[in-house]
Amino acid sequence: MDKQTVTPRSHKEMIREYPITGLVEGWYFRQREVSNGCYVVEGSDAYGRTISRQTRADPDAVLAECVAFARQSVQCAPDQHDWEFFDGIANVEVFECRICRLKKLVDLKTGRESFE
Ligand SMILES: [Zn+2]
Repeated sequence: MDKQTVTPRSHKEMIREYPITGLVEGWYFRQREVSNGCYVVEGSDAYGRTISRQTRADPDAVLAECVAFARQSVQCAPDQHDWEFFDGIANVEVFECRICRLKKLVDLKTGRESFE
């Protein structure tokens, strides 16, 4: 790995090429038919990381695959999660990070936190 500094591309520039947004924080996607019935789904972030998949069957399914891949690549620093209330089960409250989708479980009796 070279340690080149990459200048992130602007949001405007990204959506021009990858108009599907709002699926994964910082990632942009596009879906196009390259030949009869053959689709390519591509995703990229502003730092030039990319993912692409081809299908003859179901472009939505491969888009979902690309989204799952992009999600794994998004990692927050431990103190940078953006917690959002997700669910409450008995004495446990569950929060989900809006950015990396990590879940935090807080035991309301002990105050103990765990992650999954
Ligand atoms: Zn996070």
